[in-house]
Amino acid sequence: MRYWKPEDICAVLCPFCGHEMEFWRDEPTRLCPSCGMAVRNPRINLACAAWCRHAAECLGKAVDRHVAAIPVIEKVRAYLHGLRDTRPEDVALAETAADFADTLLAVAEADPGVVKAGAAFAALAASHATPGDRGPEAVHPDTRAMHALLAPVVGDSDILAHLDAVVSAARGGPPCETPEGALVSDAVNLARLRHGRTASSPPRDPLVFPMRTPAGRRLAARCRE
Ligand SMILES: [Zn+2]
Repeated sequence: MRYWKPEDICAVLCPFCGHEMEFWRDEPTRLCPSCGMAVRNPRINLACAAWCRHAAECLGKAVDRHVAAIPVIEKVRAYLHGLRDTRPEDVALAETAADFADTLLAVAEADPGVVKAGAAFAALAASHATPGDRGPEAVHPDTRAMHALLAPVVGDSDILAHLDAVVSAARGGPPCETPEGALVSDAVNLARLRHGRTASSPPRDPLVFPMRTPAGRRLAARCRE
């Protein structure tokens, strides 16, 4: 018999229909009560996966990438927490983008570290992509912070280069044409849609927030309702 606390339950949006469903922290999948699809728990407590011999069964073949992403995601969470007092709106947008990244990752095969960290930093960078900005070529202060923060944990310049590409795309640079690039783009646009942020009007015009994945389109339709 286990004793559960309220914080052992997390709310997750179904990536198929947008219905809000609840997971136990250690529950890997659940059927959506609204549409019946099997949804992977994106916030499963992956600390167990680092040592559990059942991790591969429980989480599928992506387990190594999920475990590798833990320190990256924890660093990003701590960074956002540190900005909470000075840039509350930017942090709210970045946290929403990271949550949508979780939701989209439940139905996609992609590097979770790149998608979650990328969504958070792309949202931070995008929130400063105002007219008169020096544009995607300039090194954004958040990008510099991202390198300082993540270089010690990724130890792999490909991940940082991939993160640079998704952040630059969010600031109006060339689109990042990888699965991770599409997921980050959708996560950031969903967060902007949810927060009513846009550079032009009307504020919820679907063309302002083009979605690149089917799950992104379903969630966007739900946000616009
Ligand atoms: Zn559903």
